[in-house]
Amino acid sequence: MKKFMALSLAAMTALALAGCGSGTSATTAAATEAATEAKDTTAADTAAADTTAAEKTASDKTYIINTDTTFAPFEFENEKGDLVGIDMDILKAVAEDQGFSYEVVPVGFSAATTALEAGECDGVIAGMSITDQRKEKYDFSDPYFDSGVGMAVLADSDIDSYEKLNGQNVAAKIGTEGCKFAESIADKYGFTVTQYEDSATMYQAVLAGEAVACFEDYPVVGYEISRGLGLKLLPTIEAGNSYGFATMKGENPELVEMFNKGLANIKANGKYQEILDTYIAK
Ligand code: GLN
Repeated sequence: MKKFMALSLAAMTALALAGCGSGTSATTAAATEAATEAKDTTAADTAAADTTAAEKTASDKTYIINTDTTFAPFEFENEKGDLVGIDMDILKAVAEDQGFSYEVVPVGFSAATTALEAGECDGVIAGMSITDQRKEKYDFSDPYFDSGVGMAVLADSDIDSYEKLNGQNVAAKIGTEGCKFAESIADKYGFTVTQYEDSATMYQAVLAGEAVACFEDYPVVGYEISRGLGLKLLPTIEAGNSYGFATMKGENPELVEMFNKGLANIKANGKYQEILDTYIAK
């Protein structure tokens, strides 16, 4: 019941939540800068022998795909400094399957959507939730991972409900569904929301006591907790939206089509499951 009420409240207030929107000139500048210093370049293997005419045209192009910086297990830097994760491996497998080339630019979540809207990249893969509001602006691929928003507090915190947030400050990440959800219940429960640019600084704010809780996709904060982050997740998880690969509406229909075909193929041939098993304990 609580879940349902919270969700409908989020839906009702969705349009009023400008505070969590992405898009400032600062992030655009950051995205541009990052784009020129692309860290991780991957060219897919050669196209399959039976490519269609459309795929041949597409394969001439190197798509610029923006992503988040720290959103494990979907994208993060490993010990060697390589950008790895479920999103990275899915994109690679799909590109190999469909025979297109791409370059990944990790700029942060809000900067990635800003760059997409400014035409500075062709697509975004960043654990990005497929929401009705976003579908008005973007074309999404078929969903590739189910998620939802959870609230995390210090491991020894006695905050065990939204009610206990009264009079407190909570952390959220700019432009995300977690932020939108936090703002949608902030007045009701009497707390303030401070926005952070990336997940790592948001967690740090909770660890440092600048905020008593943060709202984040539960598979992501859960992954960090399983690796030693000193937070705990509350059992209430808000039903959320699945992740999809996004392009600007109508701009790259062939890319979305290839992504969907490739995704279906890697699901059928076991590669998709293999990727999940690499990052998520069975
Ligand atoms: N899934 C969340 C959203 O789409 C967060 C994505 C992210 O932070 N990379 O809003």
